[in-house]
Amino acid sequence: MGKHDNFGLIQVYTGNGKGKTTASLGLAFRASGHEFNVCMIQFMKKNDEYGEVKAALKIPNFKLIQVGREAFVDLKNPESIDYKLAEEGWELAKSVILSGQYNIVILDEVNVTMAAKLLDASVVAAFLAEKKNNTEVVLTGRYAPPEITAIAHLVTEMHDIKHPFSIGVPARQGIDF
Ligand code: ATP
Ligand code: MG
Repeated sequence: MGKHDNFGLIQVYTGNGKGKTTASLGLAFRASGHEFNVCMIQFMKKNDEYGEVKAALKIPNFKLIQVGREAFVDLKNPESIDYKLAEEGWELAKSVILSGQYNIVILDEVNVTMAAKLLDASVVAAFLAEKKNNTEVVLTGRYAPPEITAIAHLVTEMHDIKHPFSIGVPARQGIDF
Protein backbone atom coordinates (compact mmCIF):
# COMPACT_ATOMS: atom_id res chain seq x y z
CA MET A 1 0.00 0.00 0.00
CA GLY A 2 1.41 3.37 -1.00
CA LYS A 3 0.89 6.07 1.55
CA HIS A 4 -1.47 8.04 -0.69
CA ASP A 5 -3.67 5.10 -1.67
CA ASN A 6 -7.31 5.71 -0.78
CA PHE A 7 -6.67 9.45 -0.73
CA GLY A 8 -8.94 11.85 -2.57
CA LEU A 9 -12.12 11.60 -0.52
CA ILE A 10 -14.41 14.49 0.43
CA GLN A 11 -14.83 15.31 4.13
CA VAL A 12 -17.31 17.71 5.71
CA TYR A 13 -17.21 19.13 9.24
CA THR A 14 -20.42 21.00 9.93
CA GLY A 15 -22.95 21.77 12.69
CA ASN A 16 -23.39 24.55 15.22
CA GLY A 17 -20.99 23.25 17.90
CA LYS A 18 -17.40 24.32 18.31
CA GLY A 19 -14.61 22.30 16.71
CA LYS A 20 -14.94 22.38 12.92
CA THR A 21 -12.00 24.59 12.05
CA THR A 22 -9.88 23.17 14.87
CA ALA A 23 -10.62 19.60 13.75
CA SER A 24 -9.38 20.45 10.27
CA LEU A 25 -6.27 22.05 11.78
CA GLY A 26 -5.69 18.89 13.81
CA LEU A 27 -5.86 16.91 10.58
CA ALA A 28 -3.40 19.31 8.95
CA PHE A 29 -1.03 18.93 11.91
CA ARG A 30 -1.22 15.14 11.80
CA ALA A 31 -0.73 14.98 8.03
CA SER A 32 2.18 17.42 8.13
CA GLY A 33 3.93 14.97 10.46
CA HIS A 34 3.91 12.49 7.59
CA GLU A 35 5.41 15.15 5.28
CA PHE A 36 2.12 15.46 3.43
CA ASN A 37 1.45 18.80 1.77
CA VAL A 38 -1.59 20.58 3.13
CA CYS A 39 -3.24 23.80 1.93
CA MET A 40 -5.98 25.53 3.91
CA ILE A 41 -7.99 28.27 2.20
CA GLN A 42 -10.01 30.32 4.67
CA PHE A 43 -13.13 31.87 3.16
CA MET A 44 -14.63 35.00 4.73
CA LYS A 45 -11.59 35.50 6.97
CA LYS A 46 -8.69 37.96 6.83
CA ASN A 47 -6.77 38.24 10.07
CA ASP A 48 -3.10 37.49 10.52
CA GLU A 49 -3.53 37.46 14.30
CA TYR A 50 -5.16 34.01 14.15
CA GLY A 51 -3.03 31.34 15.82
CA GLU A 52 -3.29 29.06 12.80
CA VAL A 53 -1.93 31.78 10.49
CA LYS A 54 1.13 32.19 12.72
CA ALA A 55 1.56 28.44 13.26
CA ALA A 56 1.28 27.66 9.55
CA LEU A 57 4.34 29.84 8.93
CA LYS A 58 6.35 27.43 11.10
CA ILE A 59 5.27 24.28 9.25
CA PRO A 60 6.90 24.25 5.80
CA ASN A 61 4.45 21.81 4.21
CA PHE A 62 1.33 23.58 5.52
CA LYS A 63 0.21 26.59 3.50
CA LEU A 64 -2.63 28.82 4.70
CA ILE A 65 -4.30 31.44 2.49
CA GLN A 66 -7.09 33.78 3.62
CA VAL A 67 -9.41 34.98 0.87
CA GLY A 68 -11.94 37.01 2.85
CA ARG A 69 -11.98 40.55 4.19
CA GLU A 70 -11.44 41.90 7.67
CA ALA A 71 -15.01 42.90 8.45
CA PHE A 72 -17.68 40.33 9.26
CA VAL A 73 -19.87 39.32 6.35
CA ASP A 74 -23.57 40.03 6.85
CA LEU A 75 -24.84 36.60 5.76
CA LYS A 76 -28.37 37.85 5.09
CA ASN A 77 -27.19 40.89 3.17
CA PRO A 78 -23.70 40.35 1.73
CA GLU A 79 -21.91 43.14 -0.10
CA SER A 80 -20.77 42.88 -3.71
CA ILE A 81 -17.14 42.55 -2.55
CA ASP A 82 -18.17 39.38 -0.69
CA TYR A 83 -19.40 37.77 -3.91
CA LYS A 84 -16.21 38.78 -5.67
CA LEU A 85 -13.94 37.42 -2.93
CA ALA A 86 -15.92 34.19 -2.69
CA GLU A 87 -15.65 33.67 -6.45
CA GLU A 88 -11.91 34.44 -6.43
CA GLY A 89 -11.50 32.06 -3.48
CA TRP A 90 -13.32 29.32 -5.35
CA GLU A 91 -11.17 29.83 -8.48
CA LEU A 92 -8.09 29.56 -6.26
CA ALA A 93 -9.48 26.47 -4.52
CA LYS A 94 -10.09 24.71 -7.84
CA SER A 95 -6.59 25.44 -9.12
CA VAL A 96 -5.00 24.35 -5.82
CA ILE A 97 -7.02 21.10 -5.83
CA LEU A 98 -6.24 20.38 -9.49
CA SER A 99 -2.55 21.30 -9.15
CA GLY A 100 -1.81 17.94 -7.57
CA GLN A 101 0.68 19.69 -5.29
CA TYR A 102 -1.31 19.03 -2.13
CA ASN A 103 -2.40 15.82 -0.47
CA ILE A 104 -5.07 17.64 1.54
CA VAL A 105 -6.90 20.87 0.70
CA ILE A 106 -9.07 22.36 3.46
CA LEU A 107 -11.74 24.88 2.46
CA ASP A 108 -12.46 26.52 5.81
CA GLU A 109 -15.91 28.12 6.22
CA VAL A 110 -16.79 27.31 2.64
CA ASN A 111 -20.06 25.73 3.84
CA VAL A 112 -21.17 29.08 5.23
CA THR A 113 -20.08 30.76 2.00
CA MET A 114 -22.38 28.44 0.08
CA ALA A 115 -25.23 28.72 2.60
CA ALA A 116 -25.09 32.52 2.18
CA LYS A 117 -25.31 31.97 -1.60
CA LEU A 118 -21.97 33.63 -2.21
CA LEU A 119 -21.04 30.39 -3.97
CA ASP A 120 -23.35 27.99 -5.77
CA ALA A 121 -23.38 24.71 -3.80
CA SER A 122 -24.37 22.69 -6.87
CA VAL A 123 -21.35 24.00 -8.79
CA VAL A 124 -18.99 23.16 -5.91
CA ALA A 125 -20.59 19.72 -5.46
CA ALA A 126 -20.35 18.92 -9.17
CA PHE A 127 -16.68 19.88 -9.26
CA LEU A 128 -15.86 17.75 -6.21
CA ALA A 129 -17.92 14.79 -7.40
CA GLU A 130 -16.07 14.80 -10.73
CA LYS A 131 -12.65 15.30 -9.20
CA LYS A 132 -10.44 12.38 -10.21
CA ASN A 133 -7.13 12.99 -8.42
CA ASN A 134 -6.10 11.80 -4.96
CA THR A 135 -6.22 15.19 -3.24
CA GLU A 136 -8.38 14.89 -0.14
CA VAL A 137 -10.74 17.87 0.26
CA VAL A 138 -12.17 18.99 3.60
CA LEU A 139 -15.04 21.49 3.78
CA THR A 140 -15.78 23.16 7.11
CA GLY A 141 -18.45 25.47 8.43
CA ARG A 142 -22.03 25.50 9.64
CA TYR A 143 -24.99 24.83 7.35
CA ALA A 144 -23.30 22.42 4.93
CA PRO A 145 -25.69 22.38 1.95
CA PRO A 146 -27.40 19.06 1.08
CA GLU A 147 -25.72 19.05 -2.35
CA ILE A 148 -22.38 18.84 -0.54
CA THR A 149 -23.26 16.23 2.09
CA ALA A 150 -24.76 14.12 -0.73
CA ILE A 151 -21.43 13.78 -2.55
CA ALA A 152 -19.17 13.67 0.56
CA HIS A 153 -17.62 10.44 1.85
CA LEU A 154 -17.35 11.63 5.46
CA VAL A 155 -19.70 14.03 7.21
CA THR A 156 -19.35 14.96 10.88
CA GLU A 157 -21.81 17.26 12.57
CA MET A 158 -20.54 19.13 15.64
CA HIS A 159 -23.54 19.36 17.91
CA ASP A 160 -23.64 22.30 20.35
CA ILE A 161 -24.41 21.09 23.85
CA LYS A 162 -22.65 23.88 25.74
CA HIS A 163 -20.37 26.76 24.85
CA PRO A 164 -18.85 29.26 27.33
CA PHE A 165 -20.00 32.07 25.01
CA SER A 166 -23.46 31.57 26.51
CA ILE A 167 -22.14 32.47 29.98
CA GLY A 168 -20.41 35.58 28.65
CA VAL A 169 -16.91 34.22 28.01
CA PRO A 170 -15.59 36.06 24.93
CA ALA A 171 -13.51 34.46 22.16
CA ARG A 172 -10.19 33.44 23.68
CA GLN A 173 -6.74 33.61 22.08
CA GLY A 174 -5.32 30.15 21.51
CA ILE A 175 -8.75 28.55 21.96
CA ASP A 176 -11.04 30.31 19.51
CA PHE A 177 -8.57 32.12 17.26
P1 ATP B 1 -13.30 26.53 16.04
O1 ATP B 1 -12.66 27.49 15.06
O2 ATP B 1 -13.06 26.98 17.44
O3 ATP B 1 -12.98 25.11 15.75
P2 ATP B 1 -15.76 26.27 14.62
O4 ATP B 1 -14.97 26.31 13.40
O5 ATP B 1 -16.48 25.00 14.92
O6 ATP B 1 -14.87 26.68 15.86
P3 ATP B 1 -17.34 28.49 13.66
O7 ATP B 1 -18.77 28.25 13.34
O8 ATP B 1 -16.37 28.61 12.54
O9 ATP B 1 -16.86 27.40 14.71
O10 ATP B 1 -17.28 29.75 14.59
C1 ATP B 1 -16.09 30.39 14.87
C2 ATP B 1 -16.09 30.96 16.26
O11 ATP B 1 -17.34 30.81 16.94
C3 ATP B 1 -15.07 30.27 17.17
O12 ATP B 1 -14.48 31.29 17.94
C4 ATP B 1 -15.88 29.37 18.03
O13 ATP B 1 -15.34 29.12 19.32
C5 ATP B 1 -17.18 30.09 18.14
N1 ATP B 1 -18.26 29.13 18.32
C6 ATP B 1 -18.33 27.90 17.78
N2 ATP B 1 -19.43 27.27 18.19
C7 ATP B 1 -20.09 28.13 18.99
C8 ATP B 1 -21.31 28.07 19.75
N3 ATP B 1 -22.07 26.99 19.73
N4 ATP B 1 -21.65 29.17 20.46
C9 ATP B 1 -20.89 30.26 20.46
N5 ATP B 1 -19.74 30.39 19.79
C10 ATP B 1 -19.33 29.33 19.06
MG1 MG C 1 -14.77 27.56 11.78
